Amino acid sequence: MVNYIHEAFNDILHNLEWMDEATRQRALKKSKSIYSSIAYPPELLDDSKIREYYDGLMFTQGDLLQQYRNLTKFTTHSIFKILRDKVNKRDWRIYGKVAVVNAHYNRVYNSIRFPAGILQGVFFDAERPMYQNFGGIGFIIGHEITHGFDNKGKQFDGNGDLSNWWEKETEIKFLEKARCIIEQYGNFTVPEVGLNINGKLTQGEDIADNGGVKEAYYGYKKWIKDHGEEPLLPGLSYTPSQLFWISAGNVWCGKSRPELLKKLLLIDTHSPKRFRINGPMMNSEEFSRDFNCPVGSPMNPKDKCKVW
Ligand SMILES: [Zn+2]
Repeated sequence: MVNYIHEAFNDILHNLEWMDEATRQRALKKSKSIYSSIAYPPELLDDSKIREYYDGLMFTQGDLLQQYRNLTKFTTHSIFKILRDKVNKRDWRIYGKVAVVNAHYNRVYNSIRFPAGILQGVFFDAERPMYQNFGGIGFIIGHEITHGFDNKGKQFDGNGDLSNWWEKETEIKFLEKARCIIEQYGNFTVPEVGLNINGKLTQGEDIADNGGVKEAYYGYKKWIKDHGEEPLLPGLSYTPSQLFWISAGNVWCGKSRPELLKKLLLIDTHSPKRFRINGPMMNSEEFSRDFNCPVGSPMNPKDKCKVW
């Protein structure tokens, strides 16, 4: 899935009209050097590696505070131990926290990470149709890849070094497109609290959501080419493409108290869940086509924003 979605992102880069050739080649170079870690590193199953890693960690009986101090000292020491080592951006220990239900793009390592913890539930199940998986974890995979090319990721190159690889005129076009997203999301009102999103704060995540769902969509189209059309779900009259969008919508289905919503609007770089779905889908011509939304209807506004 990661390969299909990554290819879909590279296709977007190849076909972008607003990007000059020199910047495009650098963008492709960066994209192709993204390292991905899926589920868990194989070293976790190597007893000798694990024993070596935990060497020196002592637990004593019965004293919770002392256990905690031992663990903190051990962790701090393990970090200082590698301070003078040459940095290895693919070190398995960087990708070792596998039980978390989250995913990550790291700008300095230029890597994406999908720990075992997220490969379940609404996100992924090997036994179900792939349109559901592409709408679920696929949406997240595309999101993380796109982070490498959001307002912050774009400032780093394929080695993870802070360097400006953008030709001036293309950078101006990027900033205009990001401005569209900032203003669009800044005009979304969260009805429970009557407040608007801070589009400037959330732009990176919004750019990643918009690009991510599109890459997952086209990644799935590529997957079908290799594997054939899939059966529908019994009792539902939706097409596979519609089921892709519905599965993507399920990913951020949730409910929050107004107090939390208010707090998150101030500090969270992610838009509230509803807008993480409706925003990208309102901007998607593919979504409107698959659901026959007339132009000018709430989910198919005439003015759309698109970065990637
Ligand atoms: Zn993100």
